[in-house]
Amino acid sequence: MPPINLLVKPASGQCNLHCEYCFYCDLTQKREQASYGMMTEETLDNMMRRVFSFAEHDVTIAYQGGEPTLRGLDFFRLSVELQKKYNTRHLPVHNALQTNGTLLTREWAQFFRENRFLLGVSLDGTKETNDAFRLTKAGKSSYSAVQHGIELLESEGVDFNILTVVHARTARNIGKVYGAFRRRGLRYLQFIPCLDPLGETPGSHPYSLTPKAYGDFLCRLFDCWWQDIEKGEFVSIRQFDNYVQMLLGIPPESCGMSGVCSLQNVVEADGGVYPCDFYVTDRYSLGNVNDNSFEEIYQKREELRFIEESLVPDEECKSCEWRGLCGNGCKRYREPRREDGSFQRNFFCESYRQFFSYAYPRLRAAAMELSRRAPR
Ligand code: SF4
Ligand code: SF4
Ligand code: SF4
Repeated sequence: MPPINLLVKPASGQCNLHCEYCFYCDLTQKREQASYGMMTEETLDNMMRRVFSFAEHDVTIAYQGGEPTLRGLDFFRLSVELQKKYNTRHLPVHNALQTNGTLLTREWAQFFRENRFLLGVSLDGTKETNDAFRLTKAGKSSYSAVQHGIELLESEGVDFNILTVVHARTARNIGKVYGAFRRRGLRYLQFIPCLDPLGETPGSHPYSLTPKAYGDFLCRLFDCWWQDIEKGEFVSIRQFDNYVQMLLGIPPESCGMSGVCSLQNVVEADGGVYPCDFYVTDRYSLGNVNDNSFEEIYQKREELRFIEESLVPDEECKSCEWRGLCGNGCKRYREPRREDGSFQRNFFCESYRQFFSYAYPRLRAAAMELSRRAPR
């Protein structure tokens, strides 16, 4: 049995912000029940009890939303207590939380440090690019509130990284965005291409990212990253780190980069379990931690063939020179499906071809350098 990963939504899709491109808001509108409210203590207890009786190796619990901190700090205190109560075999446990950062207080930051949570903070670059689509419900800027949240995490010594959604504006301004992050001392970065609503042909929204814009973005970001490497300053960009790792024969840790779905358990606030954050839909319901064991949940995943459907090869990918580094990418970027239900080739295929043709020699050089320095 592999290590178990849980992605928990304590406040369902509820959030204090209203980002125009929010893929989770879109998903919630496409299911029978949009919000499952707040997770109860009973559901939290059932989830922890079942996870620790099932797990054999590491347990990773990542809290996400919506905005998970809306559930309140006491919920997370109880969560840590329950982990201790049910982890009778002393398995390694990793806690993480993805937040928009705007509701953090010193008390939250102290709790994260004391309990060694790894935080992900969403920030879409500079004030201009962040506030293009990432606003409060009243349409006001979220930028200073996020900066304040980051300062609290820094002052309490909490480990965190920055997650940036690459939309049309961040893509165009990546040089400025990278420079602003570096001046601010942010060195652990993750960039995720913006999604158009599920089922729609991408490209019709002001935030939409075209394959050309994403390809140019990747090349420019790579140049910024490389310039720092040449100066002896290493910035972690998750996607590039993974490519270097893959060139050394190590599987990527980021889901979707090998073209195959991984084994995930997304737990909604009512205890419902789903196979991926992008597919918390009625069609992909795997069971409920209040009623089902993880053995039953895993069985249901196999019946739905969620992972298997990502393995169907695309004709053009079969002979593509970049197959080993791309593999057709994450399944969600192969939507919308064709009329017969099959997936298309990755929407960003052209971007990846452009990027690998441009950056491959330097990616390879970085991999060689790393393997030279590795202890033998
Ligand atoms: S902060 Fe996250 S969950 Fe909230 S609206 Fe924005 S993208 Fe959606
Ligand atoms: S759809 Fe993408 S993110 Fe979800 S499991 Fe598959 S590869 Fe991973
Ligand atoms: S670059 Fe395009 S053709 Fe090549 S593996 Fe990726 S999606 Fe397939």
